[in-house]
Amino acid sequence: MRCKPLTRATAQSRGTGKSAKNMKLRITKKNSIRFLKRLGIGLLGLFLLFLLLNIVFPFRVKVEYTTVITDKNGEVINAFLTKDEKWRMKTELDEISPLLRKTIIAKEDKYFYSHPGVNPFAVMRATFKNIFRMKRTSGASTITMQVARALEPRKRNPGSKMIEMFRAFQLEWKYSKDEILQMYLNLVPYGGNLEGVKAASLLYFSKNPDHLSLAEITALSIIPNRPSSLVMGKNNDLIIQERNRWLKKFAKEKVFTEKEIEDALAEPLTATRNTVPHFARHLSTKLYKQGDHNYKTHLDLNTQLKTEKIVEDYIRAQRLRNINNSSVIIIDNKTHHVIAYVGSANFNDTTDAGQVNGAAAIRQPGSTLKPLLYALCMDEGFLTPKMVMNDVAVNYDGYAPENYNQKYNGYVTTEYALEHSLNIPAVKELRLLGKDRLVQKLTSCDFKQIQKDRNKLGLSMILGGCGTTLEELTGLFSAFANDGVYMSPSYSDKDTLHKKVNVVTPEAAFIINDILSKVNRPDFPLNWQSTERMPKIAWKTGTSYGRRDAWSIGYNKNYTVGVWVGNFSGVGVPDLSGSNTATPLLFKIFNTIDYDSDEEWFTQPKDCETRMVCSETGLMPADHCTNLVIDYFIPLISSTAKCNNIQEVPISANEKISYCKNCVPQAGFKKKTYKLTEQEMQSWFEENKIAYQKIPPHNPECETIFRGNAPSITSPANGSEYLISKKNKEPLQLTCKAGSDVSKVYWYINNKFYKTSSPGEKQFFVPDEGPVKISCTDDKGRNRDIKIMVRYVNL
Ligand SMILES: [Zn+2]
Ligand SMILES: [Zn+2]
Repeated sequence: MRCKPLTRATAQSRGTGKSAKNMKLRITKKNSIRFLKRLGIGLLGLFLLFLLLNIVFPFRVKVEYTTVITDKNGEVINAFLTKDEKWRMKTELDEISPLLRKTIIAKEDKYFYSHPGVNPFAVMRATFKNIFRMKRTSGASTITMQVARALEPRKRNPGSKMIEMFRAFQLEWKYSKDEILQMYLNLVPYGGNLEGVKAASLLYFSKNPDHLSLAEITALSIIPNRPSSLVMGKNNDLIIQERNRWLKKFAKEKVFTEKEIEDALAEPLTATRNTVPHFARHLSTKLYKQGDHNYKTHLDLNTQLKTEKIVEDYIRAQRLRNINNSSVIIIDNKTHHVIAYVGSANFNDTTDAGQVNGAAAIRQPGSTLKPLLYALCMDEGFLTPKMVMNDVAVNYDGYAPENYNQKYNGYVTTEYALEHSLNIPAVKELRLLGKDRLVQKLTSCDFKQIQKDRNKLGLSMILGGCGTTLEELTGLFSAFANDGVYMSPSYSDKDTLHKKVNVVTPEAAFIINDILSKVNRPDFPLNWQSTERMPKIAWKTGTSYGRRDAWSIGYNKNYTVGVWVGNFSGVGVPDLSGSNTATPLLFKIFNTIDYDSDEEWFTQPKDCETRMVCSETGLMPADHCTNLVIDYFIPLISSTAKCNNIQEVPISANEKISYCKNCVPQAGFKKKTYKLTEQEMQSWFEENKIAYQKIPPHNPECETIFRGNAPSITSPANGSEYLISKKNKEPLQLTCKAGSDVSKVYWYINNKFYKTSSPGEKQFFVPDEGPVKISCTDDKGRNRDIKIMVRYVNL
């Protein structure tokens, strides 16, 4: 019984011959399957443990990088230290050249692309060496483990090593190999406060990492091993020695060709530590504050530095007149890129707050918004360049603007009003267009303060009663150089969303460009030598209230240049004006940046045509019009109203009475043609003692109910408070404007009759203290009331 199985086994084995071997194999196979199973379970367990630990001890990678500002060619022009005072510049993946990758991997971690974060063979070898030589080596550190160590520095001991390995697995679990290599290159220390290959390559070799040679990469890669003894610029001989040792090692391992190694060995090493450049300080600071770490601006460094120099020199000469600062922005009109940005006359000047960025400061714009207003009115059909407006005193609910020189010009054309920057016509046009329309256009062109203040702004905004920045104004004017289309100016490659707004039509933009490019105008700088060659430009000046800000913004097809001159303290200067203070600087800049301009000017859009109009009104000529002039217009938009300034009026034979349709008698009258003069112009003619044709007063027996406007009281101002000295009671002036059919007006004070006068005549009265009602009734019975408040004071 006992032998049987044995015999059977023997027999079996004998019978087949190979059976015993098979049996053994089967057993081994069984064992190995069992082993693999256990190994699998073990690994799965470890993996699950890793996942658990990964959740319990997550690895949050947070690295603060230096903000690096580059010019349009990618050259570093400025950089800002991190909060821990490091030059730690971020190398982007595309800046890691194949050569850099290959060299670093050959030197640091040959199996980087095949291990899971930890190289088990290297660990075993290191452990073996540690045990038998009783000496610690760090040879087992992979690139991933070095990243883990750089992110969480620890004292070196076996425990730390275990944590580092765990962290390395976590990194590999979360990031790609390239991202880990990128982190390594960004964090590796290069002595002092330099971290990462980009900072090292820029500060030692003045180039980006993707332009480094094999010799340079190798030299850089050995520094982290001994940062205190291998100092570039001090120990270059030692670095060369060490570099060449590695190069020879690479040659032996055939990482590079013999030729490559030979060239690298022969390369001298002259690197020393350079300083970080600090150009374009205001724009750099502005971008730094936005919080990203790499900004490729569109600055043309040459233009930037030249402009800075011109501004600094110009302001140095202005200091005698107590004018201490200036800001300039240059936009390339073809790309909408900001190619130069000067925030102050001198960034380093502490006495005049050179660090303040005047280009972004909110200031009053003076008259600089007028071209936009006129262009919008042209698009509404209200205006063409030769359309005539009345430049006379107005009063809109107490708002009585004045011109810059406190004079009125009577009849003026639109182009004259814009060239001379007259205030009254601008206020009138804004009233016609509607303030909200202008605000809405400016808001769409990124005028932030105007948007904020939109409910507070009044008609005075067109004369500068609002807040704008040089950045905003320069952007707006570049729209005139771009067929009326506003494209938000781009400061860096981060400004990818080009906002596009149709501000005005190409036709209106063209007409404005034509008006603003005339050289023979009142705001041409007094001391500018006309012999100097200038590219043709269109420009508009502005001077803010109290002569605090001088503006001049100019453009042609190539560039838009915005210039602000003034004091950061806000102090006004009697000598300051847009034409004499800001324009010379604008011209100097254009002469420098666009000297060789081909002077190609904007072409007339096909929807902008010319026509003959009456020179007296700018309207389409009627039969009576004798003097015609050529004018631009926009078909189907511009008004086609016929000139109507001459009318035939029935009058009595003695020319003392005029009649209307309703009261004209059957006989005993004649017809005479009169040039019509609006009431506001009649007053102006009378004030200036200019003769004009008067229509005789209307038939007093006429029973027609007159529906026209009641007189408007121009003084005092409705709703105003008047202070009167108790000692010296100065009377208040009473003036009004009445319809052209009015010959007499009647004044009432607090409902009591006061005086009769002709419409243009001034009357005076001394009011009692307290609220005063003033009424003005015309000879047709139309009445107007206003109220004022009078206070008696000790003056
Ligand atoms: Zn006419
Ligand atoms: Zn009548």
